[in-house]
Amino acid sequence: MTLPPRRLAILGATGSIGTQAIQVVRELRSRGEPFEIKVLAAGRRVEELSALAREFQVELVCLAGPEEAAKARALLPKGIKVVYGPEGLAQAAAWPDVDLVLNAVVGARGLRATLAALEAGKTLALANKESLVVGGELVLAASRPGQIIPVDSEHAALLQLLSGVRREELARAWITASGGPFRDRKPEELSGVTPEEALAHPTWHMGPRITVDSATLVNKAFEVIEAHHLFGLAWEEIGVLLHPQSIVHALLELSDGSFLAQLAAPDMRIPIRAALTHPIRLPPPPTRLPLAQLELSFRKLTADRFPAFWTVLEAGKKGGTAPAAANAADEVLVDAFLAGKIPFPAIAEGIAEVLSRHSPVPLTGLSELEEADAWAREEARRFVERNAGKA
Ligand code: MG
Repeated sequence: MTLPPRRLAILGATGSIGTQAIQVVRELRSRGEPFEIKVLAAGRRVEELSALAREFQVELVCLAGPEEAAKARALLPKGIKVVYGPEGLAQAAAWPDVDLVLNAVVGARGLRATLAALEAGKTLALANKESLVVGGELVLAASRPGQIIPVDSEHAALLQLLSGVRREELARAWITASGGPFRDRKPEELSGVTPEEALAHPTWHMGPRITVDSATLVNKAFEVIEAHHLFGLAWEEIGVLLHPQSIVHALLELSDGSFLAQLAAPDMRIPIRAALTHPIRLPPPPTRLPLAQLELSFRKLTADRFPAFWTVLEAGKKGGTAPAAANAADEVLVDAFLAGKIPFPAIAEGIAEVLSRHSPVPLTGLSELEEADAWAREEARRFVERNAGKA
């Protein structure tokens, strides 16, 4: 099977996923695969983005604000259009000469780009978690079946597994969690852990926020919420297993007692490549799994560990604006932890406190989400002030 030509927009091009996606595109192009990048978006790394824009001869670049855009205009040939801000990002996501949009923007601002891409009929390779976590109900309403291809390793695995199974034969879908750097620590040992320790993820190399979210397992709660929306799975149909090796990314438990699993090396280029070439698999693998050297283990996720996981999952089940509030609070609290203002366990405590005061409302558009986001940020900042200095 040959790959049809693909014209890409890469949003979040200088982040962890974006950078790896660009490596993947370079590699595919060097093999003669018909990939072009037409649009690139990033925040503040103007020089890096401008160099990429020249390399791929793009049509449009988008940056965080007017200052970055002015700098980029000075660096780029006249023919490349430069836009900025949330409107610019929406324009980038809906750019006419693009078939496939990779949304690897970090944070809740990625939702608007997701909606713009879907409304413009693009295929969306989705790495921005917040789109489904915060705006799952809106995203589902805006998309047609198959329009969203997940980039996250667990969901990429579920997509592959579910295509081979009849729905009535599925008992449960499992996603795995490495448990992060603190999986073997006792809860009372966590108050003294440093940002450096939290950022030393045992199996994956990722951006700072998602790495801390992997240590609290907030990231895993987000992934359960994403799986619920993306695959139409009921909450009780999704389970989480601790799996320290990060080799098995998802499993399906079937009605006859069989399990199907997807295994791959913990290398994000594998799911990124799968999303960009979907539904075709192309050789060679970026990393091959040394099967004969593997030892795989699984543990249950118990309710006495990772309190933030259970709190955020509850917010997901409530729906409406609750996950948006959880996400916004988490962003503020993770930043405060990384800045040394609050201890690690205060991330979970802060999320729980903010959510306990939140009265979720149903979503009709972005305005409820923006309001819940701003409210939760303010509440989380107050929590940080009250708890500052205890780190
Ligand atoms: Mg993941």
